[in-house]
Amino acid sequence: MRIETVDAIPPAAAPFDARVEGQRLMRDWYTALEQAPARGQHVANVFVMGNAVEILRTFDFQLVFPEINSLQTGVRKASEEYIRLSEDYGMSPDVCSYVKADVGLILKENEHPAGRIPKADIAIASNMCSTFIKWAEIWERLLKTPTFVLDLPGQRAGNWKVRPGDAQHAADARWVEAQFRDLIEKCETITGKRFDMDRLAEVEDRVNKMVFHWNNVMALNRVCPAPFNAMLDGLTYIGIMNVYRGAQEGVDFMRNIEAELRAKVARGEGRVPEERYRLLFSGTPCYVSMRRLVELFETWGGVFAYSDYLTFAAGGMDAGELVYDTSRPLESLAEITALAAQRGLSNQFFAHERLAQQIRDYDVDGIVFHGIKSCRFVSSGMADTRDYLNKRLKMPSLYIESDLIDPRYWSDAQIKNRVDAFFETLHQSGGAPRANKSVSSESGRAA
Ligand code: SF4
Repeated sequence: MRIETVDAIPPAAAPFDARVEGQRLMRDWYTALEQAPARGQHVANVFVMGNAVEILRTFDFQLVFPEINSLQTGVRKASEEYIRLSEDYGMSPDVCSYVKADVGLILKENEHPAGRIPKADIAIASNMCSTFIKWAEIWERLLKTPTFVLDLPGQRAGNWKVRPGDAQHAADARWVEAQFRDLIEKCETITGKRFDMDRLAEVEDRVNKMVFHWNNVMALNRVCPAPFNAMLDGLTYIGIMNVYRGAQEGVDFMRNIEAELRAKVARGEGRVPEERYRLLFSGTPCYVSMRRLVELFETWGGVFAYSDYLTFAAGGMDAGELVYDTSRPLESLAEITALAAQRGLSNQFFAHERLAQQIRDYDVDGIVFHGIKSCRFVSSGMADTRDYLNKRLKMPSLYIESDLIDPRYWSDAQIKNRVDAFFETLHQSGGAPRANKSVSSESGRAA
């Protein structure tokens, strides 16, 4: 497949550093959150998956992403303090550590390392992860936050597919649209504003542009050497994509990343100086130690060319066909949300065939599973998936365990030993160094 663009990508006026720009945008987002009450702006809590962000943006809600707040405590090496506070409060060690960090945040009266988080006027949860619903109940109980739960139809069986426009998809979309109409009424009551369909179309148009650039960005990593590491650079990309979904800053960021990566590919530059092994990372990151984990792999010339995290944590912006028809904004939002929910849930419950395809698409030499006890949603099926890929594709794999943001579960020596042993096995089993093996060219392999 070719790499498509929705609009011309001008050469960057100044060198673009995605990490620096991503940090700036994240700072701006936290500043905007802190200032929202003074501006009289309404605030909504939303999750990354299944969140109706387009509707909320139409009403000018300032968006709080509690998962991102929690992971940011990890990135800023402050998560343990928040987690311990919630455990002292009575939460079990088995509870999702994002939830515990968030409860710690409430107990610290919303003082986050990046700034004060405002209290939400409404929280949108969904059935994309059952923890979302229990998490929203905590806000209801502790903060009296009104909660709206979206019920999004998921995949019913392995290889079960809903095609856009078929009877099942039409029924699913009507179900979702009815819920959106309820949500719109609630937003009108909270904000005192009338819903504006044209504004929804404008927000969707910007999301469409982000989706195009994002798909091109992911496709560029099919090139050897891969221009970015899916589990380091990629985490910056999706963080900004989620926070600025449907905003012009998000479109600009994605366009600049694509331009930067195209230039890198043209120069033949890879993320690692000498790419020897192309890897796929399955699962959620360990945000406290992600840089260290990536370093353990890159030392061996291993690069994460792809990760399923970049699809299920991208809020549905992971496929070219998930594009809004802005001439019928609300119906299209419901249709695309139903499709994105199915894909998101499929990522967890029926991952094997899709991972097998991605292994082929990204010409992967090995797969790394990262299991997390407190995130059963993502980790439960890993043993079965690993078994399937080992048996069907003879795909070498490594299973490691730590946590999303709890540093007490990171064992550096143990993980290093396992990573080293994995590469030694790869090498012995004929994993030839790839330094001079050109896997693909942009036009030949890109999506
Ligand atoms: S259990 Fe996993 S998917 Fe669910 S909220 Fe926690 S980290 Fe997210």
